Amino acid sequence: MSQSTTLPLRFWSRLPLWQQILIGLTLGVATGIAFEQDALILAPVGALFLNAIKMLIVPLVFVSLVAGITSMQDSAKLGRISVKTIAIYLVTTAFAVSIGLLFGTLFTPGEGMHMVASAGSEAKQAPSLVQILVGLVPSNPVTAFAEGNILQIIVFAIALGVSLNLVGAKAAPAIKLFDSLAEAFYKLTDLIMRCAPYGVFALIAGVVGSHGAEVLLPLAGVIGVIYLASLAHVLLVYGGLLGGLARLSPLRFFQGIAPALAVAFSTSSSAGTLPVSIECARKNLGVSEGVAGFVLPVGATINMDGTAIYQGVLALFIAQAFGVDLSGGQYLMIILTATLASIGTAGIPGAGLIMLGLVLTSVGLPLEGVALIAGIDRILDMARTTVNVAGDLMTTTLVGHSENELDREVYNSANKE
Ligand code: ASP
Repeated sequence: MSQSTTLPLRFWSRLPLWQQILIGLTLGVATGIAFEQDALILAPVGALFLNAIKMLIVPLVFVSLVAGITSMQDSAKLGRISVKTIAIYLVTTAFAVSIGLLFGTLFTPGEGMHMVASAGSEAKQAPSLVQILVGLVPSNPVTAFAEGNILQIIVFAIALGVSLNLVGAKAAPAIKLFDSLAEAFYKLTDLIMRCAPYGVFALIAGVVGSHGAEVLLPLAGVIGVIYLASLAHVLLVYGGLLGGLARLSPLRFFQGIAPALAVAFSTSSSAGTLPVSIECARKNLGVSEGVAGFVLPVGATINMDGTAIYQGVLALFIAQAFGVDLSGGQYLMIILTATLASIGTAGIPGAGLIMLGLVLTSVGLPLEGVALIAGIDRILDMARTTVNVAGDLMTTTLVGHSENELDREVYNSANKE
């Protein structure tokens, strides 16, 4: 190849991965707009990338969590980390719904739509707390692995890790094995992430290409409000907590998590993004394996701030569209149910839309609202998944900082992957 043809290639290969991914994302959007449905020809490339990162979720979560726990001999510490993690997740989610409600009230995206509800919509049943708690312990770990049930895998990994710690000298070979397997999975994540710019490009081109202007325009108002509220939450709440509580630069944080955000945005799955989030937390933010391996998988299953914002805005949007006036009590009910519904939402595409039905029925809003949104839900899902993943990583950073499990030198370094 001549000098002039290799030059762009050399320039490209020298860019840090996060910049390559952002370029892939931008070109993907442009391709989707330019080629519309024809962009779907790229779908197999996207699916291949998606499969490759999904392939990692179950083994990576399991092995890295066991390795993380065995590196943390102090069991009181594990208890402390759990309490902090859950507390931060709950508080930020309540903030998220409130921000959603605030933006929905300020911008009234549903005003003037004059929709009429038909009677007799079916209500959805939420699982009870007891059912959720009993379901945490897998009766058969192999089934939990096969079904990819992350919460059950977490419980099993913690139980095994704690037991290995208690066994002492005899467990040393097993601990070493988990350690070395974890390294292998980190390496595999690293290799798969080298393909992320192309995978993200193909995925986003397909999504944008299949959503033409005629689908998006009538609901442009509500899309804009959700994106705006999401941005406000990420910048104000996450930026504020990192800067205010931990004295950590929000800029370095966002730079470090850019690959995870781009993958979240293009896949609409926080569970699918998990391997990338773990990689960003360890390599770019300097969070220890133990904290990242615990806080992130828990977050990918229960912490959904983006979904909570979406439910807050949409509850108001639907109330406005159908001309329903909400009372103060109903606002509180929305905060409560949207927080719970977001915890119950699975980290997969479209899960938040199903849970929206729960929030609507809790305050007697018409379920037709779900149908109204369904056509544009993927575009909203991209925003909420990105916020969901950012929230998991912010919490991981705060917990890592408070436990002295964050390497500030790595965090502050300008050279991110
Ligand atoms: N897709 C979202 C996620 O994976 C969940 C949702 O649909 O709200 O985080």
